[in-house]
Amino acid sequence: MIYLDNNATTSIDTRVASVLTKALEAGPLNPSSQHQFGRRARAAMESALDRIGQSLGSDLTRVDAARLIVTSGGTEANNLAIAGLGSEEGTILVSSIEHPSVLSAAGMMERRGHLVLKIDVSPEGTVRLDHLEYLIAETIRLGKPAKLASIMSANNETGVIQPIAGAAEICRKHGVHLHVDATQSIGKVPLQLSQCGASSVTFTPHKYHGPAGVGFLWLAPGISIRPSIFGGEQQLGTRPGTEPVALVTAAAEATALAVAEQEESVSRMKRLRDSLENGLLQRHPSLQIHGKSAERLASTTCVSLPGTNRQTVLMALDLAGVACSSGSACSSGSSPPSHVLTAMGADKAALESALRFGVSKFSTDEEIARAIEIISRKLLARNRFAHVEN
Ligand code: PLP
Repeated sequence: MIYLDNNATTSIDTRVASVLTKALEAGPLNPSSQHQFGRRARAAMESALDRIGQSLGSDLTRVDAARLIVTSGGTEANNLAIAGLGSEEGTILVSSIEHPSVLSAAGMMERRGHLVLKIDVSPEGTVRLDHLEYLIAETIRLGKPAKLASIMSANNETGVIQPIAGAAEICRKHGVHLHVDATQSIGKVPLQLSQCGASSVTFTPHKYHGPAGVGFLWLAPGISIRPSIFGGEQQLGTRPGTEPVALVTAAAEATALAVAEQEESVSRMKRLRDSLENGLLQRHPSLQIHGKSAERLASTTCVSLPGTNRQTVLMALDLAGVACSSGSACSSGSSPPSHVLTAMGADKAALESALRFGVSKFSTDEEIARAIEIISRKLLARNRFAHVEN
């Protein structure tokens, strides 16, 4: 089986797995307990959090420091930010290509009475900063000033990298909190949390060869957040519940490795991704690559071959030994047409045939060469079938 669905999740790095196993075997780990076990757990968790901060350019040890809130994953971190940042009443701006964990959370805020507006993207899949500025001005004119904007650092379907520095500048000028979903970027795009201009940033290690079941919401110095779940005093009440210390320890290892090996991984992933795209293009000249001329993650390609059907091809590929996705993993199963490609203005034929492939730093040349042959065969078969049907 050739795994090309690394935007959905990645296999755990064996080096991270052994750190995780060791931590799990270390004994009971509840950082809130007052005995020696508890103190040991707290020390382990704090040092792991500091290590994550260090890897991502944010010193968490200072008195006025930024904070890392431990969550169950990217979805929870995004939910927490959208519901808890900004004012109780303010308008919320979200890019139209955000992950469902942002869009659905914004929908929930809309039902609670907030005005929620979507920021447009260009046909290449890049958030339009002129539209962000326009929307902020409009909300001021309406007497409902925007208080929060959510823009992801790279899109999970197309890999298109978003203009976060420009968005941060605009948000800062107008006193709007910027939330950045960096779930797809760690280990692929350099990220200095303390300098990115965001009030909050989401990430989760299962996207970069760490464990699933844990995620983080980074909060800039001085930023506080209203909790979404309620319980004990853990994490200053912001996100109560016993922290998963072993997962946080493994996340620290995964983050350190992802950052240390980033340069080499990116050049390897880019070579493999480009060879996949070129191999497919050679065999299918009418193949469309979404966001091709934009800056993209080195790992990701989202392609359409009009006349084919993404669900049929995906299943045929699965049987033939290639794993890919026909949208974000969260919506697959009975996946509706991509809201991301729709926002980019893709036509019906492109929407119906879109497939996403994501390589990882552990993918090999041999796998990509085989994948090109298998995918081409299946696309060809489906294309012929489509002609007969028509
Ligand atoms: N944000 C983005 C951009 C994602 O790609 C994903 C996962 O697909 C998430 C958030 C949600 O993360 P999780 O599955 O850890 O909840």
